[in-house]
Amino acid sequence: MPPPARPAALLLPCLLAAAVPAAGGGSARFWHLTDLHWDPGYEAAAAAGRPCPSGGGRAARAGPWGSHACDAPWSLLRSAARAMRGRLPAPHFVLWTGDDTPHVPNEQLGEEKVLHIIANLTSLIKETFPGTKVYAAMGNHDFHPKNQFPGKEHRIYNQTAELWRPWLNDASLPLFRTGAFYSEKLPGPGMRGRMVVLNTNLYYDQNDETAGEEDPGGQFQWLEETLTNASRDNEMVYIVGHVPPGFFEKKRGKAWFRRGFNERYLAIVQKHHGVIAAQFFGHHHTDSFRMFYSHTGTPINVMFLAPGVTPWKTTLPGVSNGANNPAIRVISYDQDTLQVLDMVTYYLNLTRANMMASPWQEEFPEWEEEYRLTEAFQVPDGSARSMQTVLERISRDPHYLQLYYEFNSARYDLEPCQQECRVDHLCAIREVDFIKYDECVKTNSSASAASSAWLLVFCMFLGFLSPQPVL
Ligand SMILES: [Zn+2]
Ligand SMILES: [Zn+2]
Repeated sequence: MPPPARPAALLLPCLLAAAVPAAGGGSARFWHLTDLHWDPGYEAAAAAGRPCPSGGGRAARAGPWGSHACDAPWSLLRSAARAMRGRLPAPHFVLWTGDDTPHVPNEQLGEEKVLHIIANLTSLIKETFPGTKVYAAMGNHDFHPKNQFPGKEHRIYNQTAELWRPWLNDASLPLFRTGAFYSEKLPGPGMRGRMVVLNTNLYYDQNDETAGEEDPGGQFQWLEETLTNASRDNEMVYIVGHVPPGFFEKKRGKAWFRRGFNERYLAIVQKHHGVIAAQFFGHHHTDSFRMFYSHTGTPINVMFLAPGVTPWKTTLPGVSNGANNPAIRVISYDQDTLQVLDMVTYYLNLTRANMMASPWQEEFPEWEEEYRLTEAFQVPDGSARSMQTVLERISRDPHYLQLYYEFNSARYDLEPCQQECRVDHLCAIREVDFIKYDECVKTNSSASAASSAWLLVFCMFLGFLSPQPVL
């Protein structure tokens, strides 16, 4: 007996539901990888018993998968690529936020060498995700001399545009050649998402080329227009870049942008936050985030800072033990609203990987799941409101602070994060603005100093102070 005919009135909504993305658009996932910093001289140095070129003379055992004193050997990058293919071989797209070359003096590099390194990493990513859209941003190390990005046409921009041509739309090419920034609609029919890739190296205070300029490359004006158009077209936007605004959470008072550029960036986010779903940056090599607030203090936006693949211990004076384990991350998001739904970070326990490996063997080490944002911090998603909850949790509860702190270096530094460390991290997360950051540090430092003083007086009063510490 044939099945009873379904009434057309019932069938139509089913057909529509199949043809049109469901309300909310359904979720999809993408990779964010950053700061690969390949050290091409690692293997030869290790074989000769010399310190790695990127180690700045620091002697360290060069393991088969890398060393915390050094930038990434090729084996580590291949291992990261393999881990990504194993965990999520067909992402919707890939974000790659730059810094490809090793931390060595300019004299050991040169335009050709820098381009050669960018070309090799581009090939690795292309082979790992053939046919996948990659949104690539330039890092401050992807230039020669490093950091000196001009706000106008340059041979390195042209050559990089050629390397990335398969990933770039035709309209993006000319823009990239003149300033290394661009914007494109996300892949897929009916998508109302847009990616805005910035060259924030133009705002870096180490960049002498753009010092004194008001709007290098016209990027700010272009960004404002792009966001205005996105609002008109009912689009939602991700902003992607390398050097972030605000402060480094591992060194008090260390900002990257010049003051005027930091102010302008912040003002643009405050004005256009309605179309910015989230921001994704690198450069720190650490795992953190930055909050953006309205003038009345409402959380309006969040910037996710992804941990680096290189484990390299920073030589920045004042940072103690500033290495990290190599890490990569997957972000899941709502395809219609671009809201961040969740984030899973994977990491390689480098010490363990090196211990377990027989030298230079071919078997790849396991990149473990480090944490899932919603589970670790008990929040429903990665929205600005949820990340404000995360910030409040880590401000109030030492358990969450320590959890955040261990993730910050992808479980390299497991020391307790106390007083000064706590203030440095919380103020950096909360205040991207220079003046407000200074106030935050001042208030919280004096608050903790004052409470320590009161505690001292209290203890003396109770007669608890003795040569043996009792607290
Ligand atoms: Zn870097
Ligand atoms: Zn960088």
